[in-house]
Amino acid sequence: MKIAVVGAGIAGLAAAARLQNAGHEVDVFEHRNYAGGKLTEIMVGDYRFDAGPSIFTMPEYVDEIFKVCGKNPKDYFEYEFMDGICNYFWEDGTQLTSYADPERFAKEIEDKLKVDSQPVRKMMSKNQFKFETVGDLFIRKSLHKLGTYTSYNTVRAIARTPRLQLFQSMDQVNNKLLNHPKLVQMFNRFATYNGSNPYEASSILNLIGHLELGLGIALPKNGMHDISQSIYKLAKDLGVKFHFGRKVDEILLKNKQASGIRLGEDKFSYDKVVCNMDVYYAYNKLLPNEPQPIKVLNQTRSSSGIVFYWGIKKEFPELILHNALMTNDSEKEFDCIFNKKTITDDPTIYINITSKHCPEDAPKGCENWFAMINVPHIQGQDWDKIIEQARERIIQKSSRMLGTDIGSLIEAEEVFEPRIIQNRTFSYQGSLYGISSNSTTGAFFRHANFSRKIKDLYFCGGSVHPGGGIPMCLSSAKIVADIITA
Ligand SMILES: Cc1cc2nc3c(=O)[nH]c(=O)nc-3n(C[C@H](O)[C@H](O)[C@H](O)COP(=O)(O)OP(=O)(O)OC[C@H]3O[C@@H](n4cnc5c(N)ncnc54)[C@H](O)[C@@H]3O)c2cc1C
Repeated sequence: MKIAVVGAGIAGLAAAARLQNAGHEVDVFEHRNYAGGKLTEIMVGDYRFDAGPSIFTMPEYVDEIFKVCGKNPKDYFEYEFMDGICNYFWEDGTQLTSYADPERFAKEIEDKLKVDSQPVRKMMSKNQFKFETVGDLFIRKSLHKLGTYTSYNTVRAIARTPRLQLFQSMDQVNNKLLNHPKLVQMFNRFATYNGSNPYEASSILNLIGHLELGLGIALPKNGMHDISQSIYKLAKDLGVKFHFGRKVDEILLKNKQASGIRLGEDKFSYDKVVCNMDVYYAYNKLLPNEPQPIKVLNQTRSSSGIVFYWGIKKEFPELILHNALMTNDSEKEFDCIFNKKTITDDPTIYINITSKHCPEDAPKGCENWFAMINVPHIQGQDWDKIIEQARERIIQKSSRMLGTDIGSLIEAEEVFEPRIIQNRTFSYQGSLYGISSNSTTGAFFRHANFSRKIKDLYFCGGSVHPGGGIPMCLSSAKIVADIITA
């Protein structure tokens, strides 16, 4: 069969490789001139930055693609697990490192916070339980196929529902169990990994903590960018044809069945179309005359982000690859992100420094800072003003907490913000992870990986089931390939 894939984001790449490997003839159309979508890199002066994602969990989902395609993953993609995961800093001078090794993490908590680590151990085992109960069901399967609901895993998940604490928020569960403001803050922060609000999102999302602290964070040998590049190379080796700089303008239909795509005046016939474009724009721009699933498309979007890529002409031994400079008021911060549509005066700053592990990413004696804060998705804000405020607040706060004037150390600079995210990858409202997971039932209302109304049309990527983030996007590609090749 001839299959067109619209978009070469991580999900589009993975779907293309899987489908070509299954014997189909796959063409990928990408409007930019590179593969990877949000998962790409940029150069600013002499500094290299991973432009989008920096936290990489479940690398086995990447390995799986190579294995399914009969290749040795190590021939394409290498990574190692990190030892210390994240350095957390608070204004009162407290500093601690999280580890995926439970014993080491427990000791660190006892040493640095002077509290019993038992509640944290209990929290981690509860998070593992949540992941093992619903992970396979919500991540690896379509929630829109009957077969999913008759599986053993579903029956087991239903039997375990009372222990899943579905109807309590992350913050409620974390507060009750951890009963320590800094620990609650650390565990609440996992909500931001899919752009959600811990004060609203179901505590089922605490399973994200298990991905980081239980299963560990992986570090690609050649940077995050290598995740998308290695799958791109695999797809090319398998025979997928890539068409860069080609924007798809319409998905063509014949009798409620996808029959091809249109780019400007050019029409191409295909047996099936897999769409990696944000599903909101896919309906609005590529299928404007078809009935729109309005309820699904109009759900609240996840948060966005402002990233400053800074070349810093100094080295900070107290910083590691992942660092978080914590806010004094999490509640206010999330209220601004999800309700007030602006930024707090004291944001949590996430600083990723890949030159800690890949020295060639920055000149000698310097560091490449990816300094990010979470911000609301686009809702008519004055972004120029917000970006100016963000820059000032990040510089002030990091200077104060690290005891050095950061502003004077910036020698190269680029900024990535919601409007750029929206324009560059066609992500509706600049959201990083599609729709937010703030509602308990949200997972069931994400768009399915296929269209119920249009035959031979499929969807993959962060805006559809199972959601945003690298592992989820890779899962969406697997689900699409499984459905097509079933
Ligand atoms: C700043 C930032 C930080 C992040 N941090 C993390 C993190 O730490 N960990 C994590 O797991 N995830 C993170 N994410 C989220 C992660 O990057 C995304 O969930 C994931 O990369 C989305 O992949 P996708 O397959 O949905 O496609 P996208 O990356 O959204 O790409 C879609 C592609 O389709 C192309 N396209 C769209 N429409 C058309 C069209 N009509 N014709 C042709 N081409 C088209 C676009 O040009 C683009 O290349 C982050 C994202 C950002 C921006």
